[in-house]
Amino acid sequence: SKTPVRVTVTGAAGQIGYSLLFRIASGEMLGKDQPVILQLLDLPQAQKAVKGVIMELEDCAFPLLAGVIATDDPNVAFKDTNVALLVGARPRGPGMERKDLLTENAKIFTVQGAAIGQYADPDVKVLVVGNPCNTNAYIAKETAKKFGRVKEGNFTAMLRLDHNRALSQLAAKSGRSVDSLKSLVVWGNHSPTMYADYRFVTSNGDNVKALINDEAWNRDTFLPTVGKRGAAIIEARGLSSAASAANAAIDHIRDWVLGSNGEWVTMGIPSDGSYGIPEGIVFGVPVITANGEYKRVEGLEIDAFSAERIALTLKELEEERAGVADLLA
Ligand code: NDP
Repeated sequence: SKTPVRVTVTGAAGQIGYSLLFRIASGEMLGKDQPVILQLLDLPQAQKAVKGVIMELEDCAFPLLAGVIATDDPNVAFKDTNVALLVGARPRGPGMERKDLLTENAKIFTVQGAAIGQYADPDVKVLVVGNPCNTNAYIAKETAKKFGRVKEGNFTAMLRLDHNRALSQLAAKSGRSVDSLKSLVVWGNHSPTMYADYRFVTSNGDNVKALINDEAWNRDTFLPTVGKRGAAIIEARGLSSAASAANAAIDHIRDWVLGSNGEWVTMGIPSDGSYGIPEGIVFGVPVITANGEYKRVEGLEIDAFSAERIALTLKELEEERAGVADLLA
């Protein structure tokens, strides 16, 4: 049988962690023949809750679960890890400014970036879920870089939930099944400024934008619905989305590791300068994945409306980057 893959999950005692760990252990992320070892990180005060989750993992008797460790030490959690899901982050508290949130999280992701940079498997695939996820991924990448072991491109951020939310809205509006929809892109930051771009989407050979044929729907309904979906779920459920976030994290890593079969998926990846995105910024773009690597879809036409939306989400990311610059100096 295969050598177990080490998977680190931070914020393991949290809501998303609770929806994520059981699916990883059952083989939904890395394959039904791939044993996994879970390396769970959380804060000291959350260790008791992590123990409880581990008891439940044991009680599932998952055949693929080859081991579990729990720790509050990032250097232990990231040791030799092959896949790292950075879920734990400081939530916005009452009266907390955006700047404070950025700074508090910058501290967490510098520590974790340093641990990954020194102790993880050099080919580790990192996905940041904890918000602000693009900038947290940027911080971890910039810190890890100093150790010269892990490629910058291995640090990614989760835009897949926005992608999946957009797919569902498009399916409902067009009357086509979700799995028939190909070539959606979500550009930019995982925030309400993200730009879900349906211009290239096809369903069984038909262009879905032409099929919907309603420009006002795009601007007034589709983009706001996808952009504000997180807030709508908090309003309805009284808690933030967790199962759908965990599901998107699984989709992101599964496609990166096992391939997307030629289809486009959205990943937040460090820019190489394409599409006018400054190099190094972690930005949602379309990619095709194969053999454990992602490749950007290049050369897409950017029309005036798209250019405007991409500039808006880029501006937000540049401001976030400026807000943490002194911490990375
Ligand atoms: P959740 O598990 O609900 O969320 C964790 C993070 O994921 C938050 O930053 C959240 O952002 C983000 N996120 C990304 N996408 C989504 C989405 N679509 N919907 C909801 N959240 C999303 O938080 P909990 O408070 O339940 O758990 C956090 C855990 O992390 C706790 O156990 C805490 O102890 C731990 N933690 C660990 C740290 C560490 O290991 N060093 C540091 C800080 C916390 P948003 O806040 O915007 O919803």
